[in-house]
Amino acid sequence: MDEYGLIVDGEERPARDGAWFDSVDPSTGGPLARVAGADASDVDAAVAAARAAQADGRWSRIRPAERGRVLGRMAELIRRDADELAATESRDNGKPLRQSRTDVEVSARYFEFYAGVADKLMGRTIPVVPGLLDYTVREPIGVSAQIVPWNYPLQIGARGAAPALAAGCSVICKPSSEAPLTAIRLGRLGIEAGVPPGVFNIVPGRGSVVGDHLVGHPGVDQVTFTGSVETGIHVMRTAAAQVHSVVLELGGKSPNIVLADADLEAAAIGVANAIFQNAGQTCSAGSRLLVQRAAHAPLVEALRERAATMRLGPGIEDPDMGPVISATQFERVLGHVAGARRDGARVVAGGGRSDGPGLGDGWFFEPTLLDGVEPGMRAFQDEIFGPVLTITTFDTLDEAIGLANATEYGLVAGIWTRSIEAAMVLAERVRSGQVYINTYGAGGGVELPFGGSGKSGFGREKGLESLDSYLQTKNVAIRFGA
Ligand code: NAP
Repeated sequence: MDEYGLIVDGEERPARDGAWFDSVDPSTGGPLARVAGADASDVDAAVAAARAAQADGRWSRIRPAERGRVLGRMAELIRRDADELAATESRDNGKPLRQSRTDVEVSARYFEFYAGVADKLMGRTIPVVPGLLDYTVREPIGVSAQIVPWNYPLQIGARGAAPALAAGCSVICKPSSEAPLTAIRLGRLGIEAGVPPGVFNIVPGRGSVVGDHLVGHPGVDQVTFTGSVETGIHVMRTAAAQVHSVVLELGGKSPNIVLADADLEAAAIGVANAIFQNAGQTCSAGSRLLVQRAAHAPLVEALRERAATMRLGPGIEDPDMGPVISATQFERVLGHVAGARRDGARVVAGGGRSDGPGLGDGWFFEPTLLDGVEPGMRAFQDEIFGPVLTITTFDTLDEAIGLANATEYGLVAGIWTRSIEAAMVLAERVRSGQVYINTYGAGGGVELPFGGSGKSGFGREKGLESLDSYLQTKNVAIRFGA
């Protein structure tokens, strides 16, 4: 089996205590690669290396254009290794190969986008009184600890690292033990691209040990966390004890709102892709369909046909949908569906294990449609994080707005209609960090600010807004006259 080490201070090495764990292939349940399992002393070493890099300015104080050039090389190397990275992602996470290829290209785009920004992080001059020059400088915040989940290890690894590095920060990335391989490969490419030692470190290992120690480390300045609400709250508490600034991206229960006048063919494709991509394990998954009564029957039928004909299989064989990440996740999804049945939801498609030919012992969950789901049901409220779409019917725009805003989350919303007025009213009144009209997602959306309200978290990633998390403003006032 291939071995993946820690990346600390510009070198790949085993954990100090020699611990290893297996990364598991969710298509078979068998081991895929051996990964070094860091402990607290490895985290201490990574933090010390990251702090040393900040102290001597080997990255933060070089010409910003040179930082940009190195990040540009990262983008080139990601594209050079695209086939291998995509195959590794599909094996480790289970997602179809073409989705992994998209993830690879989006990751390259992150580095390309922020490479172009590195030398444009300008301050302002502020008029106060004659004889006083006041200006601001945007400085790197310091050491950024980044906790990356298993659903998009490469993409979310790049989404956090690229803007932080462009800002001049040092990064310590902790990938999820469930799927750590491509994040570690990103660290390897950092070494090859010429990121100086200590500036981009990767410490795989258990969240409760490595993640916890990292987030609460006094040598860290900022934390970017993507994952569950429960762990996010814990991370925020731990970070608060050190007064670290925090970005939380905690997923959602995002609605796709389909009005009766919509192009239903386009809506059916958009709604299905929004939930079944990555087997529903996407923070921005469109997991709730809110459909106007007159469109309900034709749209549900189109979705049912789509779900019934989807081909499941190991990600590396590029099926329509792969397995969910683990036995635990499989049981969690199954539990949600059972609960929804008990609450009175109707299972229109799927609902359990898919055991078609060639699926073996993998954790394959059928594409599932739950109709008649009401706001009082857990299935309407909880992030299921599996290929499960809930369906709720409405009559008026006000009802649609009420339903869209009836969860604790607010990450993404899709609106499908031919009426510009209806689209604009919904876009204005739906509580959501991003709104898409007659589409859902924007091919990775590297350029677009992304983040939530409510339990979806706070802070914005992607786009120029992301840089605000990794920069702090220094104000300088100079008296030169009476
Ligand atoms: P999780 O516990 O929130 O894991 C996310 C990341 O946090 C992983 O890297 C994990 O490491 C790490 N972590 C765990 N405990 C930590 C701690 N005490 N301090 C710092 N980091 C810690 O999520 P999960 O258990 O894998 O999944 C549970 C549910 O979370 C899912 O069903 C889904 O609803 C949600 N989720 C959402 C997203 C999203 O993108 N919004 C992503 C993943 C999961 P280890 O994996 O190594 O323990």
